[in-house]
Amino acid sequence: MKASAGGYARANDVPHALQLLALAGAAGRILAGGQSLVAAMNMRLSDGDMLVDITRIGALRGVTDTGDSLHIGALTRHAEVGTDPLIRTHAPLLTEAVHHIAHAAIRNRGTIGGALAHADPAAEFPACAVALGAVIHAEGPEGARQILAEDFFEGVFTTALAENEILTAISVPKADAAETQIMEEVARRGGDYALTGLCLVRRAAGHRVAVFSAGPAPVLARAAMAALDAGDIDGAVAALQAELDPPSDTQASAGYRRHIAGVLLRRAVERSGGQGA
Ligand SMILES: Cc1cc2nc3c(=O)[nH]c(=O)nc-3n(C[C@H](O)[C@H](O)[C@H](O)COP(=O)(O)OP(=O)(O)OC[C@H]3O[C@@H](n4cnc5c(N)ncnc54)[C@H](O)[C@@H]3O)c2cc1C
Repeated sequence: MKASAGGYARANDVPHALQLLALAGAAGRILAGGQSLVAAMNMRLSDGDMLVDITRIGALRGVTDTGDSLHIGALTRHAEVGTDPLIRTHAPLLTEAVHHIAHAAIRNRGTIGGALAHADPAAEFPACAVALGAVIHAEGPEGARQILAEDFFEGVFTTALAENEILTAISVPKADAAETQIMEEVARRGGDYALTGLCLVRRAAGHRVAVFSAGPAPVLARAAMAALDAGDIDGAVAALQAELDPPSDTQASAGYRRHIAGVLLRRAVERSGGQGA
C-alpha cells in the first residue's frame, strides 16, 4: 500500500514550523526521522497528513552541557545519542538504551524527539526520560514551556504535547559521581520492541525505577523505589509487581510481563552493585 499525504512543507526554523503547523490545523504532522510516521502512513493508519518537515532545523540537533544537565536537541538521532561522549559520561542510560532500539538503519534516521513525541509504550527513550527525571522542552504559539517527563507520557501514543506544539529538546540531569544507570529488557530477538523492560537509576538522592512495555505509558514504580531505598530487594520486587497492570496480547500475557519485571529488577540491582548497595 502507498502512503497518502495531504501535503508537505519544509520548515526553516522553529517559528516557521509553528506557522506551518497552524496553517495545517488538525491535519498537521511533524516529520522528523519518519521511522514511525511514514510506516503508519504506508499502512494507512494515518491519512491525508500535512507533513511539516523539521529535519533541516539545525538548532534542534546536538548535545550541549549546560552545567547541571545535558540539553539534547529533538533531532539528535538515536545513533548519535549512542555515540555521544557527553551522554556516555553523564547519562549512560541513554547510551545503553540505543543498543536495544531497532536496527542500524532505523537508529540512523530515528530521532530522540520523535521517539518521545510518538510515545510508544514499548519504546526505550520515554522510560529513560522518566527514570532520569528528565524535562521535555516544547514550543508552541504561546511560547516555550517545560514538562517533567513523568507528567509528559499520558497513554498509548499520547503525550502532554498540544497539537500545535513542537518538542524541541530534552534536558537530562547529569549523573552524580557514584550514580549507576542500568537498562534491562526482554525481547524475542535483538532489536525487537521489548516484551517488558526496566530502567534503574541509583543516585545519592535515592533509587528511580521506570518500567516500559508493561502499561499504556512508562510506569515510575514509586513503591519499588521506596523499598530499594530501604535496602529491601524482595519487598521492591513485590511492590513493583503490585504496581504494574500490564496488558495481555499476542506477544505476552500480563502475568508473564509482571513476572519478567521482577526478574529484570533483580538483574538491574545485581548489576548496580547488589542489594542495599
Ligand atoms: C521496524 C522498526 C522497529 C523499531 N523498533 C524500535 C524499538 O525497539 N524501540 C524503540 O524505541 N523504537 C523503535 N522503533 C521506532 C523508532 O525508534 C522511531 O524512529 C521513533 O519512535 C520515532 O522517531 P522518528 O524521528 O522516526 O519520528 P517520526 O516517525 O518522524 O515521528 C513519529 C511521531 O512523532 C511526531 N514527532 C516527531 N518529532 C516531533 C517533534 N520534534 N515534536 C513533535 N512531534 C514530533 C510525528 O509527528 C509523529 O507523530 C522502531 C521502528 C521501526 C520502523
